[in-house]
Amino acid sequence: MGELLKVDKMKTEFQTEKGTVTSVDEVSFDLNEGETICLVGESGCGKSVTSLSIMHLLDRNGSISEGSILFEDKDLANASEAAMRKIRGNEISMIFQEPMTSLNPVLTIGDQLTEGIRLHMHYSKKKARAYSIDMLKKVGIPRAESIIDEYPHKLSGGMRQRVMIAMALSCKPKLLIADEPTTALDVTIQAQILKLMKKLREESNTAIILITHDLGVVAEMADKVAVMYAGQVVEETDVFTLFDNPKHPYTLGLMRSIPHITNPDDMRLESIQGSVPSVHNMPKGCRFYDRCPHAMQRCLEEKPQLKPIEDKQSHSIRCFLYEKEEQDYENKKKAKE
Ligand code: SF4
Ligand code: MG
Repeated sequence: MGELLKVDKMKTEFQTEKGTVTSVDEVSFDLNEGETICLVGESGCGKSVTSLSIMHLLDRNGSISEGSILFEDKDLANASEAAMRKIRGNEISMIFQEPMTSLNPVLTIGDQLTEGIRLHMHYSKKKARAYSIDMLKKVGIPRAESIIDEYPHKLSGGMRQRVMIAMALSCKPKLLIADEPTTALDVTIQAQILKLMKKLREESNTAIILITHDLGVVAEMADKVAVMYAGQVVEETDVFTLFDNPKHPYTLGLMRSIPHITNPDDMRLESIQGSVPSVHNMPKGCRFYDRCPHAMQRCLEEKPQLKPIEDKQSHSIRCFLYEKEEQDYENKKKAKE
């Protein structure tokens, strides 16, 4: 498995009336071919901005101000719009939560599907149409030969999401970014869509960045996980370690917010006390300070860095509790007092 994507200390800023706002700060993770990483965290934690940054699809007032995004040998952080146009929809494609917003209501399914195929794969009209019908069948759309000439509003939400997946995968991308692709769908359809994504991943070795706030989806799909909080990755590891041995106080809080598995009648979501700090007023030290049950004086004053714990290079945490020096620091301070 070769390395496909390496995001390193990426920072994304927006120019607003209230000044410059940093939405994503020092986000780092990497991804091999065929691998799936889930980005998890509460809404507004920077998951979507991270993926839009990679795709250069930020609103006009947003830009990547620091860091790098290596996709194979290309640095996407500094890529021109012309270069990105070749990559988008071809080498990297994206599906969103609400397919209706990304499908054009005045064009038929076929028109929209064949456009990308003709552009990137240089197929003739006839060949692109036949290939589109094949793709629609592949994603489980019945009567694909007639659905191809329908307009999006004729289809159910689940069917539209299938069309989006067909569209996203038609040019055999190396990387698929899926931003909450099943959130708007009912549970049965959700399970079908996830199964479909898994099948397509196995067939074509597509790597996936899957954005979700659903830990059930994470358990089902992820090879590894990056937990995000207030615009930063606070824990990154493989999916087994995340569920067996989560470490960051925020991750532990999220885990406790899973509905009680032992008692299916009790589906209460236990949320974490407090709220995410405002982008206009980020704390000087740890961003989780206000909500953290283990907060120490140091956390108020210094910014924790994302670091591998112990000898385990594959498990990184942004928290002073897991730094070896922490004990020395506390001891030294005690000695001074
Ligand atoms: Fe809590 Fe401190 Fe760790 Fe932040 S650095 S998560 S405040 S213990
Ligand atoms: Mg989002």
